Amino acid sequence: MKYIIANWKLNGSKPLLNEFLNQFATYNSHNYVVLCPPHLLLSDLDSINIDNFFMGSQNVSEFTNGAFTGEISAEMLADNKIFYSIVGHSERRTLLAETNEKINIKIKQLLSHNITPILCIGENLEQRDANTFKQAIDLQLEKAFKNIKIDDKTIIIAYEPIWSIGTGVIPEISQINEVHEFIKTIMKQLYPKNVNRFKIVYGGSVNLKNYQIILSSSLVDGVLVGGASLDSKSFYEICNFKN
Ligand code: PEP
Repeated sequence: MKYIIANWKLNGSKPLLNEFLNQFATYNSHNYVVLCPPHLLLSDLDSINIDNFFMGSQNVSEFTNGAFTGEISAEMLADNKIFYSIVGHSERRTLLAETNEKINIKIKQLLSHNITPILCIGENLEQRDANTFKQAIDLQLEKAFKNIKIDDKTIIIAYEPIWSIGTGVIPEISQINEVHEFIKTIMKQLYPKNVNRFKIVYGGSVNLKNYQIILSSSLVDGVLVGGASLDSKSFYEICNFKN
């Protein structure tokens, strides 16, 4: 059982969502699918009832409510039966000033409404080239989970090397495995009793040509797919992955 997560970013429309829902109407793989379109496509979804198929948000506010124009709260997501949310995507970190401290608060907001965070972390090209990527990842994890109790909740961590997002450049599977193992080690230190509550997925230029080798790794609990998740047939094929 793997997690296959679609990040539509600032793309998509009602017709595209309907096309996906038709495509997935007969979905019966045991992989968990989480489809994260823009917020406006997340309302009025009460009628979706497909096994192992869930809708997720691409972001959540760090605020509970109040004078924060344009924000969407964790409570509003839960109200709309949205129980997954991406947090800390590198585009938000670099383009929209999302700091580790904000990400930490957002994770707390999500967990307090029983929404599973999909925390994105990963190094940039400079850090990869300078061989400081493990320090960069360690710092992101320590700060994201500062003072967070997870109890029996599930948390998804998406390892997304920034140099691979949207570039078509993908790490060797040995490099993916190395980082996934490293993340597991850090999470074991942070949460010795609950380490199995963390699922570690890979994201960055996943497509029809490379998903099988990535998902075949026992260290990889799933994939987060950007560009290739906008094509219903391609994405459906990835979701039907079998070991
Ligand atoms: C992403 O932005 O999370 C992502 C994985 O994008 P892509 O698959 O297009 O590289």
